[in-house]
Amino acid sequence: MEISVTDWHDWRWQFRNRVRSLGHLARELKRPISWLAPLKPVIRRYPLAITPYYLSLLNASDESDPLRRQCFPDPRELSFSLGGVPDPLDEERTMPVPGLIHRYSDRCLAIVTGDCAVYCRHCNRKRMWREKGLRGGRERLQAMVEYVARTPSVREVIVSGGDPLVISEGQLDWFLGALRAIPHVEVLRIGSRAPVTLPMRITPELCAMLKRHRPLWFNTQFNHGREITAESARACEMLLMSGIPVSNQSVLLRGINDDYETMRDLLCGLERISVRPYYLFQCDPVFGTDHFRAEIGNGVEIMEKLRRAISGLCLPRYVLDCPGGGGKIPLQPCAFLPGMNGSQFF
Ligand code: SF4
Repeated sequence: MEISVTDWHDWRWQFRNRVRSLGHLARELKRPISWLAPLKPVIRRYPLAITPYYLSLLNASDESDPLRRQCFPDPRELSFSLGGVPDPLDEERTMPVPGLIHRYSDRCLAIVTGDCAVYCRHCNRKRMWREKGLRGGRERLQAMVEYVARTPSVREVIVSGGDPLVISEGQLDWFLGALRAIPHVEVLRIGSRAPVTLPMRITPELCAMLKRHRPLWFNTQFNHGREITAESARACEMLLMSGIPVSNQSVLLRGINDDYETMRDLLCGLERISVRPYYLFQCDPVFGTDHFRAEIGNGVEIMEKLRRAISGLCLPRYVLDCPGGGGKIPLQPCAFLPGMNGSQFF
């Protein structure tokens, strides 16, 4: 297929032309469909979606390619040998209205859609990809707004998904505006992987709309230095130039970024494009993600090495989101031992 430069840079074209089937994937990779046959049962349970942009970044013929592993279905997603549950953070139990997670008193998280530009195979909400009821729906969003309005303890709302930037701009504008109009809501936050998987989604129009709802913070998810491209850097720059701080929440992924050099390159690359590394998450025990889960001890060692080698500006907090909804606990080496009073250092 001939692709024009205009089409390539149009996020709607990218979204419409996502790889959604094995036949499509086989055509893109110029491989026989039989090559992908073992993946059929996997995508029946966990669908496939890859933007042409993200596909262009990966090496499809290398099974260990860190970008390919994040978006290609893998037969191991159906083998639950080490356990795991669909909803390890117990999000469904902390929803006062459908789609609104209220776990901490001062903030809540709105799942405005279950859809995403790319379905990341390590996602902790992969249980939602097939839920049609999660797509848009003014009434559903209105119920969330009403809950926030009658809950004065909420001062921050995180608008997430799925990816909130795949719903219509008008609907997102309305939702953010309705939340912003609630007197006790002080801060809004967007959680979106669009700068990484669909950077052309960050348009001047979108930035102008988001700017109207400031103070608004933007969290994204770069997991590997190769995801930092001219396009993704431009997307982050546009948000920053609109007065929207951009932070990053990576996931520690086995064989993808769970080594010192890869993590250092990622974090220093983020600093170069003015994106603040915020969290490094231990991969949650979600069904079908066993093969992504790195050892916590390994993660702690990487963080300790990083702490000694790179600027504090590049250092995220390595955390474990406690299964069962217990909240985040920091994972770090014991730097201060019982019995020390600090005088040992001076
Ligand atoms: S973009 Fe986020 S919500 Fe969507 S699949 Fe990836 S990690 Fe999950």
